[in-house]
Amino acid sequence: MKTTVIPTLALIGALVLVSALRNIHRIRAEIPTNRGWWAVIEGGVVLFIAGYIAYAYSYAYGVYRFNDIVTTVVFLGGALFVLLISHISHQAIEFLRQMATLEREAITDPLMEIYNRRYLDRKLDDEVARAHRYRTALSVLLLDIDHFKRVNDTYGHDLGDRVLVRIGDYLKRSVRRSDILGRYGGEELLLILPQTGRHRALALAEKLRRGIEATEVLGPHETRDSIPLHCTVSIGVASFGTGVDTPERLLKSVDEALYRAKAEGRNRVCGRSSRRPRTPGHAPGISRVRGLGEMALT
Ligand code: GH3
Ligand code: MG
Ligand code: MG
Repeated sequence: MKTTVIPTLALIGALVLVSALRNIHRIRAEIPTNRGWWAVIEGGVVLFIAGYIAYAYSYAYGVYRFNDIVTTVVFLGGALFVLLISHISHQAIEFLRQMATLEREAITDPLMEIYNRRYLDRKLDDEVARAHRYRTALSVLLLDIDHFKRVNDTYGHDLGDRVLVRIGDYLKRSVRRSDILGRYGGEELLLILPQTGRHRALALAEKLRRGIEATEVLGPHETRDSIPLHCTVSIGVASFGTGVDTPERLLKSVDEALYRAKAEGRNRVCGRSSRRPRTPGHAPGISRVRGLGEMALT
């Protein structure tokens, strides 16, 4: 005797598999590894769906007579099982993605989208340990924007934020992937340079100083008076070596170098043992370009 229960169950099973297929497809799109295997599973589920429909059809139209309800219950159970597995897998991936986002947020400065102080402190410990172990060079740069308070006072806090973003973007473009750039405090940035000795660090600092000086941090369309804004930075440089062999001493040394760069007139680079400015700075602070001339607001 024919019953409609069996083809109906088979069709419900096929629908369950279609839902599972959606999950599997999303997993395949998001998972970083084994995409090929997930494609195989996806293909297998499509075949299953075709099989379920063929079974329902053949039963209903009498091509075959499998009137064994147990078989269809097992079919349905199999489909539910696949749905469950795919659902759990997708949830696991969502969880991993959220963890990765949280982890990234915990070490990133939200405004400048570079590392934050927490990460810099951790990385500096690691890099100092590595320099000790393998006797490799290590340098750090501490950059501070000159007279940044005036940028806020003149253009407002929002445009001040934009200036920070532009300087951060310039630095991100200008350093190597192996260098570690982060925001150390308000408008102070720390750059950790693994395997970099004092001379190369000083040369890089000077290149960055010049690059920032030449960068239009606010375009003419962004300022009220249509005059582009340029900023300068002072940079302290310190390198791992005798007497400067812990993270604390490196930070103290680079801070002292930065302090000297400020004291000696700003817009310059100072190294640890240098008593004189490494570079003659010009027009420190913020300046607004007028044609070929320059008007310093210091
Ligand atoms: P100096 O050349 O001695 O470094 O002078 P300065 O004005 O840059 O230094 P000071 O420490 O007096 O001021 C730093 C300013 O940076 C004050 C503070 O409002 C501003 N600042 C710090 N963080 C932010 C920020 O996230 N956004 C903006 N817009 N301003 C910030
Ligand atoms: Mg400053
Ligand atoms: Mg400062």
